[in-house]
Amino acid sequence: MKFLVSNWKMNGDVEFAENFFEKVNRIDTKNRVIVCPPFPLLHKFKDFSHSLGAQNCSERTSGAFTGEISPLLLKDLGCEYVIIGHSERRRMFNESDETIYKKYKTLTDLNLTPIVCIGETEEERSEWRDVLSIQLNKFKDDGNLSRAIIAYEPIWSIGTGKTPTAAEIHEVLNFIKRTTHSKCPTLYGGSVNIKNISDILRIPSIDGVLIGGASLKIEEFSEMVRCSVC
Ligand code: PEP
Repeated sequence: MKFLVSNWKMNGDVEFAENFFEKVNRIDTKNRVIVCPPFPLLHKFKDFSHSLGAQNCSERTSGAFTGEISPLLLKDLGCEYVIIGHSERRRMFNESDETIYKKYKTLTDLNLTPIVCIGETEEERSEWRDVLSIQLNKFKDDGNLSRAIIAYEPIWSIGTGKTPTAAEIHEVLNFIKRTTHSKCPTLYGGSVNIKNISDILRIPSIDGVLIGGASLKIEEFSEMVRCSVC
């Protein structure tokens, strides 16, 4: 079994969600498929045969926080997973490691699984160990870590068509596993598509992939869901 996480980002509409549901629902697969549409489309995935996730959440569960989304409400809507710390949120919405850790705590306390994204920029590529160590610092010895998933997403690879080599991904995922005492699954994300997914899923240290753009092509994603390299 490999994890296949589909991150729609701020894409899709009601019609797209209905088409996606119809095509992907009930595909027979050994993989754990987790679909993360935008918040207003989550309700379209009621009775979905695969798993549902959200792309972000508040670190709090209720209160006077206009515009925030409670993880409790996400649970109510059927979400089992929540992506946190995506590089787009870190960079464009100034999310700090501290905030991401608070979200992780809230989620694991609620028995929701955080998918914690970490990764280095192009400029930081030669220092990836230092960058990832800082991003993992609060999590690595946390008692709830076995309830989380870590996704390695090099920022220079997201949406660019550029991917690290299989050996590079293997080295980084092994580093993450060593740092976190192999307590949780480790995924790779960044320009995964129908052409490279089989090779990527054959990397020994990988537990799955996070797919952005290519998961919006419903036929292509359906084929990836069926992928049985795993
Ligand atoms: C992502 O946004 O997490 C991602 C992996 O995007 P893409 O697959 O488009 O590179």
